[in-house]
Amino acid sequence: KIRLDTVVKTFDTFRAVHGVSLEIESGELVALLGPSGSGKTTILRMVAGLEYADGGKIYFGDEDATDIPVRDRGVGFVFQHYALFPHMTVAENIAFGMKVSKVKRSKAEIAARVADLLRLVKLDGLGERFPGQISGGQRQRVALARALAVDPKVLLLDEPFGALDANVRRDLRRWLREIHEELAITTLFVTHDQEEALDLADRVVILKDGKIVQQGTPEEVCREPNSPFVMGFLGDTN
Ligand code: ATP
Repeated sequence: KIRLDTVVKTFDTFRAVHGVSLEIESGELVALLGPSGSGKTTILRMVAGLEYADGGKIYFGDEDATDIPVRDRGVGFVFQHYALFPHMTVAENIAFGMKVSKVKRSKAEIAARVADLLRLVKLDGLGERFPGQISGGQRQRVALARALAVDPKVLLLDEPFGALDANVRRDLRRWLREIHEELAITTLFVTHDQEEALDLADRVVILKDGKIVQQGTPEEVCREPNSPFVMGFLGDTN
């Protein structure tokens, strides 16, 4: 379980996140949804440890993780532009995190784990290709396999399907849902696409100007939007 307690982030004089409190239960898939500039990415980066909160606390279970650096947090992430290494094969990309991890694995263990992950993300047989030889959707699957390779406690996804076309996004959504059901890993997903959030998440957290304006299951927020902003935003189908 992850808990944010009145987390604040200020860049120079601009307050990007205004005292956000949020709980993500173990195994839950929560979407942070809001327009551009609402603070979604900043919140995700603070949970990852890529950015430090300047007020409030972040807990992983009972542990105060607020000041724990990214490499010790046990998180995996996939960003829209978190590119694969172009000069490494798919298999080498997936293995990369395991090779640099503090947990030492033998070559055979790494190879077996890469094969399992390729199966999990439905890319069997593509391990020897280079990123330039597979599609954009397949590249994001590889990025997810790479994030999962080190058994993260928490998975953080920032617009992972953002650059892809609508049909591919829909397929990947269904696929991510299946993977999530299989692994039950605590997941925080950032998107500005309300359809994606409502379709994918167990719970949706809607942000505006660095504050949470509403949260609930997709059914709850659609049935009872609590403000004209939420109603307009959920109704806005790009
Ligand atoms: P988007 O969907 O466009 O990525 P977002 O909801 O993820 O938007 P953030 O990226 O978290 O929003 O940004 C929130 C606000 O903080 C924005 O106004 C942004 O300009 C500002 N901001 C983010 N990072 C920095 C930074 N490193 N320095 C200064 N301002 C920043």
